[in-house]
Amino acid sequence: TRAREAALARAEARCERQARHDPLTGLANRAELRSRIAAALAAGAAAGRGTGLCLIDLEHFQELNETRGQEVGDALLCRTAALLRGRLPADHLPARVDGDSFAVLAPEQTGVEAVHGLARELGAALGRPVLLEGTAWASAASIGVAWAAPGEPSATRLIGEAEAALRDVKAHRRGGVGLYSPAIGKPFADRARIAAELRRAAAEGQFVAHFQPQLRLGDGGLLGFEALVRWDHPEKGVLEPCYFLEIAADAGLMEAIDSAMLERALDGLVRMRATGHAVPRVSLNLSAVALRDPGRVDRILWAVDRRDLVPADLAVELLETVRIVGDADPAVACIDRLARLGFGTELDDFGTGYACLANLSRLNVSALKIDRSLVRQMRAGGGEGESQGREIVRAIIALAGRLGVSVLAEGIERAEETALLRELGCGLGQGFAFGRPMPLPAVLDWLAARSPEAPRRASA
Ligand code: C2E
Ligand code: CA
Ligand code: CA
Repeated sequence: TRAREAALARAEARCERQARHDPLTGLANRAELRSRIAAALAAGAAAGRGTGLCLIDLEHFQELNETRGQEVGDALLCRTAALLRGRLPADHLPARVDGDSFAVLAPEQTGVEAVHGLARELGAALGRPVLLEGTAWASAASIGVAWAAPGEPSATRLIGEAEAALRDVKAHRRGGVGLYSPAIGKPFADRARIAAELRRAAAEGQFVAHFQPQLRLGDGGLLGFEALVRWDHPEKGVLEPCYFLEIAADAGLMEAIDSAMLERALDGLVRMRATGHAVPRVSLNLSAVALRDPGRVDRILWAVDRRDLVPADLAVELLETVRIVGDADPAVACIDRLARLGFGTELDDFGTGYACLANLSRLNVSALKIDRSLVRQMRAGGGEGESQGREIVRAIIALAGRLGVSVLAEGIERAEETALLRELGCGLGQGFAFGRPMPLPAVLDWLAARSPEAPRRASA
């Protein structure tokens, strides 16, 4: 009976362990994290120390899973767990909360800065490209940080605040680290209310275009402008897409936004030219839904014709092209038709999902836009990540060269990046270094300010 008792105890321990740990990575699971947070808050209150919590979300994980298979996805999860284990102080608890979200509990801390600093270190480490089964993956993580001062003993509140911080980071600066503050998330708590407001916004023409310049890196000449949607909200002012685009998509309003933007972008181009500026073209973002709509190309053609413009005046940036599956996907034919008509067809956010490489040979595209996360990686923190980022960019440019499509790098923020990208052979660029997205009147000023000495070298 003693042996049976021991076996029973072992089995019980194993069951208990399983109930508290994630089987894939061996990290604590959500239930265990929760109870450890409660314990840490109580211990902190007794010791006069605070408690920190970081929530970590891997970017583009779904894409990795879908395009490279679950085993590769699992490999990234295990690598993330190992990285957390390797970098945390002994009293910190790493956990896998679910899917691609992880957490780090930092107990008995003297201040929020230490937790924030740790989160930044983890973010940098998790943001380096990794080799997964021989192919590079541009890994990135968003991190939300919350802090409970000594004697604020609510686990629910701490978790809620870390979640709000993470949502905010994902909305504004994916791949970054954000600290909770009470201002976060307040203005837009209620998705249903926003969806209703968005419907009215569509009916009342509140969607407007801002324009961001795109330049030739070689001589600094103007390529054109990307039209980016803004919601000119009657009370809240001009809102960026991170506040509403996802909700608009869920509410079935993408069609309305795409149509409004087509008109706004072309009207904007006509205005710029009417003021005497040579603007080669504007570009427009098209959602995946739009690409499968059989009447779409005709409506675009009609809008262009109606203004006496030609297809070469408009480039279409194709979003979410990773989701394109197989040659039978109607999106493939839509892109092909646009390209044959003479419109620019550009793959947006290139380099964030490796299915893009497959898409490149299948789709009739004239350019690809290197995602700003890759440009950021190239600049980030020096060392191995930086040179790997550079190699990825170099490889993309070489590939594009072989296929005869041009390359535009987005998110260029500094003069050094311009120089480096030019050196790597990247022909086109866009980013805060040259100009932020601006409303039309500011664009006209921007054009007027540069016209006397144009064309000139692209410098920040
Ligand atoms: P995107 O197509 O990748 O657009 C570029 C985004 O990067 C813009 O954000 C722009 O403001 C930002 N950006 C430009 N230069 C820099 C830089 O140097 N540094 C940094 N950190 N960011 C830079 P925005 O306007 O908030 O748009 C976000 C996304 O919303 C767009 O990403 C696009 O996916 C979507 N979107 C915007 N307008 C439309 C639209 O009219 N229709 C559709 N379907 N989607 C749109
Ligand atoms: Ca775009
Ligand atoms: Ca992009």
